Amino acid sequence: MLQRLFILLLLCCTALVQAQAQRLPTKEPQTHKKVQLLMGTRFELAAVTRDEQKAWEAIDAGIKEIQRIEALISEWQPTSQTSEINRNAGIKPVVVNQELYDLISRSNRISSMTGGAFDISFASIDKVWKYDGSMKALPTPDQIKASVSKINYKNIILNPENHSVFLKEPGMKIGFGAIGKGYAANRARDVMREMGIEGGVVNAAGDLVTWGKQPDGQPWYVGIADPEEKDKVFSWLTADNTAVVTSGNYEKFAEVGGQRYSHIIDPRTGYPAKGLKSVTIVCPNGELADALATTVSVLGKEEGLYLVNQLKGVECLLITDEDEIVTSESLSLHYYQNKKKTAAAQTATNK
Ligand code: ADP
Ligand code: MG
Repeated sequence: MLQRLFILLLLCCTALVQAQAQRLPTKEPQTHKKVQLLMGTRFELAAVTRDEQKAWEAIDAGIKEIQRIEALISEWQPTSQTSEINRNAGIKPVVVNQELYDLISRSNRISSMTGGAFDISFASIDKVWKYDGSMKALPTPDQIKASVSKINYKNIILNPENHSVFLKEPGMKIGFGAIGKGYAANRARDVMREMGIEGGVVNAAGDLVTWGKQPDGQPWYVGIADPEEKDKVFSWLTADNTAVVTSGNYEKFAEVGGQRYSHIIDPRTGYPAKGLKSVTIVCPNGELADALATTVSVLGKEEGLYLVNQLKGVECLLITDEDEIVTSESLSLHYYQNKKKTAAAQTATNK
């Protein structure tokens, strides 16, 4: 009798284990991906999990978060707080959300750290350099000087008491073209991670942040495009819980008298940045990586490398106009692998 009971119990236990096994997802983790146009850019959000439904929920939450940020920071949407700040330039301070206030403060800190090479009031520029092929002659030095006369981060007046923002000069404007995508990618990653997604990538047209691992346990890799043939990858970076952001002048430039002029302009002089074809920044923070990619393009090889080597946890890979590849002091140790990976390991190539 006792023996029968034991067998029954054992059977029950087995049945219980089986039931549990059926309820538990038995699949290996998989990558679920969605592409969407956000902030005028092609975003791809990827989530690694066993639970497909959770993946789609988290991806949708990430997309909503990026849309929310766009509505707050866009200088193009008239209803955004950023547009309100711009409309009141030279008139009065505007009280804004803590979140926007903090983004502006962080942007200004990057400006002071870089001697104004990075400046969100860059949006005030008069476009004397044209990238649609319409430029036949160079602008005059006076035109160039005047084009940047309203840019000066020191005239963005922040009041921490009521978190208001005042642009001192009439005609001044701020915009987040060089930092907003990185901030949005950081936030989308945070939202997805908090929902229990153990690994993933938020990729804004090649500027990306990663967390966790690929489904097979490998780290994420990012291919760096060959400057000569931009559809070819010439090296791979290991992207372990990090952001990888590239600014480059492959596509957008003005050409006058056989000379190419970059779309990245030094706000301090009005002249296009020179010397670097492409700047890739690797660091854990997508926002900082985005801002620094633009900044190092402005600063050029020597000054740019100097800056990156001062910053803990920030690395870079630069390609000069002469196709020389230059890396920061620790990049090769941690990230840079000049060897081929299998196509399956590829998550993104830069633009
Ligand atoms: P992309 O968006 O092409 O990847 P970037 O991240 O370098 O390139 O950002 C380019 C945008 O940043 C431009 O649209 C311009 O509005 C803005 N920008 C250009 N130069 C600067 C600068 N020195 N400081 C701040 N913003 C800049
Ligand atoms: Mg940038």
